[in-house]
Amino acid sequence: MSLATGFPLLHDDLRLVGYSIAGTSTSVAFPEADVLFDVAQGLPFQTAFNTILLTHAHMDHASGLPYLISQKSMQQKPKPVIYMPEAAVERLTKIMKLWEEIDEFQYAYEFKVAKPGEEIPLKPGYFARTFPTYHRIASQGYTVFRKRKKLKDEFTKLAKTNPQELARLRREGVVLEAEVEENLVSFTGDTKIEFLDSEQARKSRLLVMEVTYWDGKKSVENAREWGHIHFEELLQALPKIEAERIVLIHVSARYSNKDLREIIDARVPEHLKPKLLVFPRPG
Ligand SMILES: [Zn+2]
Ligand SMILES: [Zn+2]
Repeated sequence: MSLATGFPLLHDDLRLVGYSIAGTSTSVAFPEADVLFDVAQGLPFQTAFNTILLTHAHMDHASGLPYLISQKSMQQKPKPVIYMPEAAVERLTKIMKLWEEIDEFQYAYEFKVAKPGEEIPLKPGYFARTFPTYHRIASQGYTVFRKRKKLKDEFTKLAKTNPQELARLRREGVVLEAEVEENLVSFTGDTKIEFLDSEQARKSRLLVMEVTYWDGKKSVENAREWGHIHFEELLQALPKIEAERIVLIHVSARYSNKDLREIIDARVPEHLKPKLLVFPRPG
C-alpha cells in the first residue's frame, strides 16, 4: 500500500483504489468498471484505466493528466478517453499541446465533454452519468451504473415452482428478463453539500464524497466559501443519505487518522457509524 499503488477500500463486492488528501491529491479508481475519477498529480497505479472522469480542473485533481497520458503512451497502452466539464476542455487542451511541444511528441488521448444527463459509455455492461456539484470553478460529479438482466417479477415465482415451464416459455421466445441499472458508485470531487439534492448520488451503494474540514478550526461558513463540505454539514445530512456506505475523501492534511476516529466516535450516532468510512490515507 503506497502512493504509487494506491490505497484499497473494499465494501462487499465493490472495490476502490486510490488516494485522497485535500489540496494535495485526489484520485480514486473503480477497477471493476475500468474507470478512474480524477488524476491527482499523476500516480503510477492510474495507468491501468482507460476512461477518466474528471470532476474539475483544480491542480490537486487534474494536474496529472500530462503525466498519465504520456505514461500510457510510453507503455503502449490504449488511448485514454477523458471526460470533463465543458469549461475545462480548452485550457487543458492548451496544456497538453504545450507538453507535446516540450516532448516533441504527439500523444494519443481524447478529451470529451461530459454533458449533464448523458450516458458516458464505459466498458461493456457499465456506464456513467454526471450529477451537479457546487465548487469554485466548473465542476460535476459522476455515478457509475452496472446494467444487468433480471428476471421480471411475474416470473420469479415460476422460476422456483416450475422451472420446466419457464424454460418452455423461453424456448417460445417470451422475454423473461428486464434490464436493470444498478447504481454502484458516486464520486463528488470538490463540492458544497448541495450536491445531495441529486437522488442519483444519494442512492449509490458507495457514495464517495468530500468532507474537507472536521472541527472548529474552520467554520462551516469558511468551508462553504471555499466550495467544500464541513463535517457538521455531513452530520446534519446523514439520515437522508441512502447509500450503503459513505466513503469520505479530500480530508484536510491538518487532521490525523486518530483525530478523525475521535471525531466520528464522539459525534456520529451509534447506528450510523458503520455507514461511514474514511478513505484509507497515511498518518
Ligand atoms: Zn481539491
Ligand atoms: Zn477544487
